[in-house]
Amino acid sequence: MSVPQTADIVIAGGGVIGASTAYHLAKAGANNVVLLERADLFGTESTAKCAGGVRAHFDTEINCRMSQLSLPAFERFEAETGYSADYRKIGYLFVLNKEKDLAAFRKQMDMHLALGIRTEWLSGDDVRKLLPMMNFEDALGALFGPDDGLADNGAVVQGYVSAASKLGVRCLTGVDVTGVETAGGKVVAVQTSQGRIETRLLVNTAGAWGREVGRMAGLEIPIEPVKRQLFTTAPTPEIPADFTFVIEFGTGLYFHREGPGLLSGMSRVDQPPSYDQTVDEDWELNHLETAAFRLPLMERTGIARRWAGLYEITPDHHPIIGPVEGLEGFYMNAGFSGHGFMHSPAAGLLAAEDILTGTTPTLDISMLRLERYTKGEALHEYNVF
Ligand SMILES: Cc1cc2nc3c(=O)[nH]c(=O)nc-3n(C[C@H](O)[C@H](O)[C@H](O)COP(=O)(O)OP(=O)(O)OC[C@H]3O[C@@H](n4cnc5c(N)ncnc54)[C@H](O)[C@@H]3O)c2cc1C
Repeated sequence: MSVPQTADIVIAGGGVIGASTAYHLAKAGANNVVLLERADLFGTESTAKCAGGVRAHFDTEINCRMSQLSLPAFERFEAETGYSADYRKIGYLFVLNKEKDLAAFRKQMDMHLALGIRTEWLSGDDVRKLLPMMNFEDALGALFGPDDGLADNGAVVQGYVSAASKLGVRCLTGVDVTGVETAGGKVVAVQTSQGRIETRLLVNTAGAWGREVGRMAGLEIPIEPVKRQLFTTAPTPEIPADFTFVIEFGTGLYFHREGPGLLSGMSRVDQPPSYDQTVDEDWELNHLETAAFRLPLMERTGIARRWAGLYEITPDHHPIIGPVEGLEGFYMNAGFSGHGFMHSPAAGLLAAEDILTGTTPTLDISMLRLERYTKGEALHEYNVF
């Protein structure tokens, strides 16, 4: 695949964030934009490994507002791109079995309601009544988001890439970004496996590899790749079709319907950062035992498919979006810390506004700039798993 010799904007990384950024830039009128992905297809890394969950219930206002922009975008995605995002509002149920989580979620609920996010509170008995097939004897309460649910990660990447291409973006696969040339504190070119591209603007959308692309420009971007793994089960006819996305918040164990069976994940909190994406069988056993305790039918379903992928974790579990002080022409849009799929519409829209106009009238995202870490302004998100 040959690359152009010059471009107004080069986007490095063709997962859902790069694809959304490319689309929103072109939609806002940007010309001569190139999206580069080193794999043979777009969206084969974290985006393809994701559980497809989309939710509005976070602990920080900025994360909630990013969701409030993104969820309706999934709803109108087909009209916009020609691809259905298959957004299914099955709801997210955060089951809480620790007093401290109960207090934290009750407090957040006031913010959710003030922001206009539909939110319901359930007692422990309500949870047991709602989920008779599960063992939640210790549930103290739960927060339910009726508009949360699932969407199709593959379709969203394809939709954005296809719509961006129609608007003139050159979307290229098999192109590895290998270097960033700078002069006088500015980006001047990007080196790739297929040749050099002169440009004044590079957007880093390399996800879990965002730190590596930063290093090419002499920057230290605090994004760690951290393995997360999932499995799906054989058919589970006992589970109703409208089964909600259930999370036992204390352990980070979650389930949702996936085809005729279930998908389940459980985050290992002490997972060391690494690019390893092999399934850890010891952790899988632990996951399976915890899952079978909560949902006894798991003992007979067995595992149909398993995989591991990378979260792209920042120190405060919020993305890094914005220009980088000290290097003109280097723009960050990465580090979504395990919720980048659900925030991809907002991430692309806001980055495009910022890149093209230097402001983001839709939503203030200045608190997401890289410099927050050196200025002691890091955020904190409670609802991560
Ligand atoms: C198991 C698991 C479950 C998840 N579940 C959810 C969920 O339910 N909901 C949710 O919202 N999020 C979820 N996530 C997180 C979500 O998948 C990510 O936040 C999101 O996909 C990040 O998108 P991205 O485009 O930044 O990264 P990626 O999809 O990884 O894209 C980055 C791309 O950059 C490319 N790249 C890297 N370096 C270079 C280079 N030098 N040159 C060219 N290309 C390069 C890579 O090949 C890759 O394709 C989950 C993640 C995992 C692993």
